[in-house]
Amino acid sequence: MIFIPQSIIDGIIAQARNELPDEACGLLVGSRDVSRHVFKQYPLTNIDHSPEHFSFDPKEQFGVLRDARSQGWQIIANYHSHPESPARPSEEDIRLAFDPEIIYIILSLQEKDNPVIKAFSIEGGKVEEVPLNSCDIV
Ligand SMILES: [Zn+2]
Repeated sequence: MIFIPQSIIDGIIAQARNELPDEACGLLVGSRDVSRHVFKQYPLTNIDHSPEHFSFDPKEQFGVLRDARSQGWQIIANYHSHPESPARPSEEDIRLAFDPEIIYIILSLQEKDNPVIKAFSIEGGKVEEVPLNSCDIV
């Protein structure tokens, strides 16, 4: 179960539309206690600049980690968009998922007026959908 403020979901959708035709990506920081609550969105540069895959800028990624730690938070999820495909991990997404503690969020813009956002855990090539709830409280 992961809780994400609606304002952050809207922020991910806005970023993804803004970066079309490329995939957009970023990190979500928050608390990992009993349930996972996202507090802050960090849009990152997709250094692949590709509509089919993404890579984080390692420097930006490290900056997020440092910022999160300084506030006693953790990176609990990463996200990226699928401009033309459904909201489920691609074979490459599964192959590159190395952290079973991280939640992988995928936003599909396949249906232009109906963005679909889903969360997954990926461990050893096994994909499981994680319930995603929007919330108003940060
Ligand atoms: Zn993907």
